[in-house]
Amino acid sequence: MKKTSLLFLAIIALISSAFIKPIVNESKPITVVIDAGHGGYDFGATSNDTYEKVIVSQIAEKVKSLNENKDITILFTRTSDEFITLDKRTNYINSVKPDLILSLHVNSSSDHQKSGVDFYVSNDSSFFEKSNEIANKLNQEFTKNTTLKVSDVKKAPYNILKKSDSPAVLIELGYLSNPNDKKYLTDDEEQNKIAKNIISFLSELK
Ligand SMILES: [Zn+2]
Repeated sequence: MKKTSLLFLAIIALISSAFIKPIVNESKPITVVIDAGHGGYDFGATSNDTYEKVIVSQIAEKVKSLNENKDITILFTRTSDEFITLDKRTNYINSVKPDLILSLHVNSSSDHQKSGVDFYVSNDSSFFEKSNEIANKLNQEFTKNTTLKVSDVKKAPYNILKKSDSPAVLIELGYLSNPNDKKYLTDDEEQNKIAKNIISFLSELK
């Protein structure tokens, strides 16, 4: 190749590099608040000596300990077994302004046949559209990876959903009143799977 054409190529390469964006890691940093429901004297759903407040904290802790993605910052409304009012929770959330709030709960019903996972969003929130979009994606993720039945996303005016100035989704992870769901919710490996499910979902969140 002639010297002039080499020079020409070098100039082209230099110009085009100015227009080509560098290849960067696709995931963008996000902050997520995990809200483990209940705590302290508020046990939530109970079944003999199994309590909702304990199950949701165990899963919240697993989300933190199993997360290896440095682009995901995980914060909590509670990290110990203490009672925290809903106002305190939403005040904290609104001071942090996260990209997403996931409120973790466990269901209970007098009908012991009732089973499965439910997702809730509030249309009283100014972030309803985004919350609903995220809840539907999360619903799909759970449908793929959970043995429990996953229902369509529902709407409910829960405080944590409507008073948080960020997208927020409340998950009822299963029914403590159903023997099969209870076995699933209290199993260490299943809890790990739920936590990993949440982390892989967050990693794909754009
Ligand atoms: Zn609850």
